[in-house]
Amino acid sequence: MHIEIDQHSGFCFGVVYAIEMAEDRLKETGELYCLGDIVHNDKEVERLQNLGLKVISHDDLRGMKDTTVLIRAHGEPPETYRIAMENNIELIDASCPVVLKLQNRVRQAYDDDRQIVILGKKGHAEVNGLVGQTQQDAIIVSSVEEAEALEIDGPVSLYSQTTKSTKLLYEVQESMNSKFEDFKANDTICRQVSNREPELKKFAAKHDAIVFVAGKKSSNGKALYQTTKSINANSYFISDLDELDLSLLKGKNSIGICGATSTPMWLMEKVAEYLHKTFNSEEVLA
Ligand code: SF4
Repeated sequence: MHIEIDQHSGFCFGVVYAIEMAEDRLKETGELYCLGDIVHNDKEVERLQNLGLKVISHDDLRGMKDTTVLIRAHGEPPETYRIAMENNIELIDASCPVVLKLQNRVRQAYDDDRQIVILGKKGHAEVNGLVGQTQQDAIIVSSVEEAEALEIDGPVSLYSQTTKSTKLLYEVQESMNSKFEDFKANDTICRQVSNREPELKKFAAKHDAIVFVAGKKSSNGKALYQTTKSINANSYFISDLDELDLSLLKGKNSIGICGATSTPMWLMEKVAEYLHKTFNSEEVLA
């Protein structure tokens, strides 16, 4: 049995940057607060917690004073910066530059009196950060049906959460195009995500089965897993080894291991090693 890890899978640069910032500070102080999970992967969060990272909620932040808090790659709404200033909290801002640029674009369009529509997941941290640029006026849609049901007078601008699937964005865009007179669609899907889709399709097609490793909270993981599954029906989503059903992989000649932009390489390597040992494969291609 051949086992291969997809070299295009794993952390995007935004997540790498945030984790490096956290690790640097943890080396100095041994303790750091992070507003929300630093990455949508419980295993990586656990690793960083063991180094001293403490995950806090927005409610916790309101009650804190005179401390240091890391903002993760998803970015934050203006409200968070206001609270930090009022409470003398130093922010280590690891907001991804791609997200910051998107926040700016949304804010500018909102200031130009356009109705902002965001294709995204309600309650997702990045989406909250975007909605915060519009005084909570932005409308969030998650499907073509929701986009079709919109009733808006005046100019409309569509943006996408950076980790949504390109296919869905273009379907939503098409459904809105004929509906509104003054409509601007903006493809704001991160290229770290969209560029992975074609690579992932090629990777999924060349193996008998695919083990897709990602956290259950990862939007990007869900989107990329659907892409994988559409190409290779023998694709299985796991968050860790204990979810792996070996009976599904028995008798396969080649297994591919891949993941999301929030999946650590060490976790995919752990899965590869385990499969290698279990099925006694000739080699691990990594
Ligand atoms: S997926 Fe793109 S936008 Fe999101 S954190 Fe990674 S690099 Fe930044």
